[in-house]
Amino acid sequence: MSRILIVEDEKKIARFLELELTHEGYEVLVAGDGRTGLEKALQEAPDLLVLDLMLPEMSGIEVCRRLRRESDVPIIMLTAKDDVSDKVMGLDMGADDYMTKPFAIEELLARIRVALKKHRENGEHAHEGTLHAGKLTLDPVSHTVKCQGQEVALTKKEFDLLHYLMAHAGEAVTRDTLLKEVWEYDYAGDTNVVDVYVRYLRHKLDEPYGIRTIHTIRSVGYMFRYEE
Ligand code: CA
Repeated sequence: MSRILIVEDEKKIARFLELELTHEGYEVLVAGDGRTGLEKALQEAPDLLVLDLMLPEMSGIEVCRRLRRESDVPIIMLTAKDDVSDKVMGLDMGADDYMTKPFAIEELLARIRVALKKHRENGEHAHEGTLHAGKLTLDPVSHTVKCQGQEVALTKKEFDLLHYLMAHAGEAVTRDTLLKEVWEYDYAGDTNVVDVYVRYLRHKLDEPYGIRTIHTIRSVGYMFRYEE
């Protein structure tokens, strides 16, 4: 029996989803705000999250972003309005799918089934801690990066740099931090090495696959944000 965590502050919707999902045979957990949702997601390790975007305490986007550092649990976002930028943001932060309210319960149930199945199948050949962004996956156990299912050959440092940036997706990371975390030294001088490796990664990922991954944040450093 799969366990589903509903994070939704609108009590009527939360209650409705709880009843419908229980009726379908799922075990259901409910959280009424973002902070509680994140806590429950980390503590109870549900098999899937239905996550509302507009939440008190902590937004759905933030829940998603923080959760993705620890877990690759499938996340289906609920958006109140047809707001494209919210959806893009949510998908960037690692949500697997989204639905716009109001939605037909049958469609949500279908998407839950698909997301659970996909996750099970991925789980058969992916390891714990695997990071996903769009068509890109990074598996820290087998040290492989795949884009559109094809393996991308990276050197150790390229891999480590991408790993760090993906694990901090949506955060602007300074060159000094990258030197310290990826190259493991304090280096007050020339940080050109970071720029060089970012260029290598863009050359191996962005150019051949027509995606954008590592963005330059002027006068700060770099940020991972997946764009197609
Ligand atoms: Ca809400």
